[in-house]
Order: sequence, then C-alpha cells, then structure tokens
Amino acid sequence: MTKINQDSIIKNYSNLSCDYLIIGSGAGGSVASSELAEKGKDCILVEEGDFFEIDHFKGSFSKSITETWRNAGFTPIFGNPNFAFAEGRCLGGSTYINGGLIWRTPEKVLNFWNEHYLEKFDNKSLNEHFFKIEKKLNVISESNNDGLNLDSKLIHEQAIKNNIKSVFVPRAVKNCKRDNVCYTGCSSGAKQSVLQSYIFESSHKGLRLILNSKVKKLNLNNNLFFSAELLNSKTREVFNIKFKNVILACGVTQSPILLNHSLGNKIFSYDMEIHLNFRISAIFKDKVFSEKGTMFTTQIQEFIDEGDIFMSTNFNKSNFLSSISNLNNDKLLDITENIDNVASYVLQTKPKSKVKIFNTFQKQFLRFNLKQEDFLHAKKRIKFFANFLLSAGAKQIILPIKNNLIINDSDELDKALEKLKKKDLQMLSVHGMSSIPMGKKNKNFFNSDGRSNDFSNLYAVDASILPSNIGESPQGTIMAFSHEIIKRMKI
Ligand SMILES: Cc1cc2nc3c(=O)[nH]c(=O)nc-3n(C[C@H](O)[C@H](O)[C@H](O)COP(=O)(O)OP(=O)(O)OC[C@H]3O[C@@H](n4cnc5c(N)ncnc54)[C@H](O)[C@@H]3O)c2cc1C
Repeated sequence: MTKINQDSIIKNYSNLSCDYLIIGSGAGGSVASSELAEKGKDCILVEEGDFFEIDHFKGSFSKSITETWRNAGFTPIFGNPNFAFAEGRCLGGSTYINGGLIWRTPEKVLNFWNEHYLEKFDNKSLNEHFFKIEKKLNVISESNNDGLNLDSKLIHEQAIKNNIKSVFVPRAVKNCKRDNVCYTGCSSGAKQSVLQSYIFESSHKGLRLILNSKVKKLNLNNNLFFSAELLNSKTREVFNIKFKNVILACGVTQSPILLNHSLGNKIFSYDMEIHLNFRISAIFKDKVFSEKGTMFTTQIQEFIDEGDIFMSTNFNKSNFLSSISNLNNDKLLDITENIDNVASYVLQTKPKSKVKIFNTFQKQFLRFNLKQEDFLHAKKRIKFFANFLLSAGAKQIILPIKNNLIINDSDELDKALEKLKKKDLQMLSVHGMSSIPMGKKNKNFFNSDGRSNDFSNLYAVDASILPSNIGESPQGTIMAFSHEIIKRMKI
C-alpha cells in the first residue's frame, strides 16, 4: 500500500462522532488507530499537523523543519544550559522526521519495569508485536561494505580493534538511496515511518482522518470524557467531535498539556525524562565522504548500561557549514576545502536530570537544570569519544561547546574540558518520555493497561506513558506498548 486513501480524510467537520477518538498520529497513535480499524471499530485519528507525501521535501532541510517539526524544530528548554527539544508535528508524528532506528525494549529495562510499574508486559507478548512492527516497517540492519557509510565503518572498525562493543543497528528503511537526509525529509521515501505503513494501510480499512486540527480540550461529564473541541489551523474553523472512548497520543509534551487543560487546572508541572545528544565532529586526515551514506549503520554500545551510546549522524555539507558559520573565515575556508574529510557523530546520554513541563495557559514551557553529576558524566564521555576519534585518524575535533570549539590533540581537549562551564555545553534532545508514566500504583494517572484510573474511557499510548527513561531509542517500545494496550482492551 503506497498511497493514502484520500476519501479517508474528513473535510466536513459538522456533526462528527465516533466510538474511538485517537489524538496524535505518531508512533503510538498510528498503531492504536490501525489496530482498532483492523478490528472494524469506528475510529477517527486527529492530527494537528498536515499530510506530506513520503518524499515531499526531497531533502530540503529548511522546508522540512519549518513544516513538519513543532516550533520549526526548536522548542526551547530554558535553564542551565539552554537547549532545544525536537518533535514532529505532521501526519506520522515524529516517526516522519526521525532516524528510523527501531530497537526492541532492552530486557533489563523490561524486567525493571515489570518489577516496579507494569503487570505482565512479558517478552512473549511484546515479541509478537515486535515481529509485526518489524515486518510492517521493513526493519533491517544494513551492511557497511557498499563503499559508502565510511563514517560509520571507520568508528566501527576502530571500536572492534580496541575491544569496544559496536553493533549493527536495526533501522526501518527500504531501498535507501544514501542521500543522508533521514530526519530532514528523506529524499527518496526509503525511510519507513508509520505513515506509509500503519496509516496508509488503515486509511483503506475504514479509519477516518482529520488533518491540521488540534484538539484543544476534552469535555467531561460524570467521570467520562464525551467530546473534543478542535481548531483547524488552515480554515480557523472550531468544531467538536463526540466519542465513546478517547486515546491520547499527542506525544510526550502535548499529552500532559491537553490532559491538564481538560481537567481544568490552569498551571501545572510534570517531569519529562530525556536523552541528551552532543554532536562531536571530526576532521579526518583521510577522506570519509560522509555525505554519501545513511544516518548510521552501526552504534557503539560499550557504555550502554550507563545510558551512553555513540554513532554517526546525518551529514549534509551545506547544513554542516551553516552550523559552524561562527568560525572565522580562515577556519571556515580550511574546513570547506576539506569537507570530504569531515564526519559528525552523536554522543547520546541518559541524564538523571529531568525537564519540567509547565502548562502556562495551554502553552508549554520547558525548564531544565543539568545536575552536576550529569555534567561531569557528559564531560567524561565527551573526553572518551573525542580521544577515540583522534585515535581513529582525526586531526581536529569540533567539540559540543559554545562557538564550536576546535581542538587538535588530547592536551587541548583536557584544557577545554577543564575550563568548560555548564552553560557553554551545546546539546539537543530528540527523545522525551515518561511525562505521565503508567504504573500499577493508584497514584499513577494511567494503570499498566494504559487506562486512566479515574476516567474509564480514557487511554494513553504514546511516549508520555513509558514508566521511566528507557536509555535507548524509544519508538519500537512505544509502538509495541500501543499494540499491547489495544490488545488488553479486549474488544
Ligand atoms: C529528529 C528525531 C530523530 C529521532 N530518531 C529516532 C530513532 O531513530 N529511533 C527512535 O526510536 N526514536 C527516534 N526519535 C524519537 C521518536 O520519534 C519518538 O520518541 C516517537 O515518535 C514518539 O511517539 P509518540 O507517539 O509519543 O509522539 P509523536 O510521534 O511525536 O506523535 C505525536 C503527534 O501528535 C500530534 N499532536 C500533538 N498534540 C495534538 C493535539 N492536541 N491535537 C492533535 N494532534 C496533536 C503531533 O502533531 C504529532 O504528530 C527521534 C525523534 C526526533 C525528533
């Protein structure tokens, strides 16, 4: 199924009703709506953003980021340091703009969750869901032996040589053309989001879709939610949908905000767990032709038990140069002339520090303070991986430090890290989770069937309900949990 069923898109918003209203079309919402549609249920999937064909952006960074990312890509997180949180806002949600890495839930994490938060989310039932997800999204591990992806190959070989654990990664990709623009608009449609799988398929099986419409509030009567108030951003039309059951899948920042507003609380704060990404770029002695490849084929997992992983990331010459445009002309010229020798990598860590989500009159406001232990940990790992890149043949490293600080050797690295202040760390987060964690205790808003303890026709299936920080890319787990929650509805 490679096309959406255009007839599934609702254009007349009067007198709408359904049995199941699913809000948000990303990893969680796409699975829930598609499973319900498959069972012949009457459901409507609402999405705040627009529908874009799978290769619509042809790799255009600025077009993709302004049209498919919430707040044009950069939702500010204020604090020490300031940084951005990124999430999608389009049909397919963040899966449309992400790296396509699909991991099964790590066994250690699942065991911990079952001990403390969940009831019987065992490997057996989840694996059944993972098989389905992996088949639908064409999850494969790609080889490094095509003469491309030298940035991944280089660190993988260096790791293996030094007994450092590095693995090939499972990604949702079909016939990748190696254009290296996965998260800013895959130019060929090779990256498999939930759009061209779950959503396209279910649009042919009775699922109705509403686009460009944000659910502003859910209305409650006698402990049951019964209708949603929406605003269409294109026509400015305000309309209502009546429903029997409602499933929240607005993502980690928006689900708590909608819930809180619907419950009539003007201001609140929730904690969100995150991963932090630090970009470390290397200028190698030899050419690596980073632009010719995909985002990454391998990942260094030596420190995964401490929450740290390291991998290459998408590389586009002009995007990269614009990101270092603060450097002086001589440096810029030097890097431009050696651009085929440059590769960018990402160190991902799992901090103990959490982001606070405030709902200030239905606008999110995010605050964060990097704890000293997380700061020291980040410095330790930046040091390790910068040295690792030097030993792999880098002649210069651009550190994730204000003004793109460049070092030439280990001594300069040590000095730079010694002087480093928290506020000068450059970082980004693209993984948020656990803002309304599900759990077996009554104090958790959602029980471990994803259903509200207080409102029996309210469910949630997105990143916000993951019990705690997973320490790996979360999409696979969010999707498997969404499958499991729908299965537990026993309908
Ligand atoms: C750049 C980037 C790269 C990433 N790479 C990976 C990766 O390789 N592997 C991985 O596992 N994870 C990755 N992630 C994270 C992953 O994509 C998300 O964790 C996952 O998609 C979250 O799923 P979700 O269902 O919670 O929300 P989302 O997928 O974000 O979907 C939520 C949807 O709800 C819509 N919505 C919100 N509020 C409303 C409302 N009130 N009314 C109507 N609609 C609403 C939003 O517009 C959005 O489309 C990446 C994320 C980003 C941003």
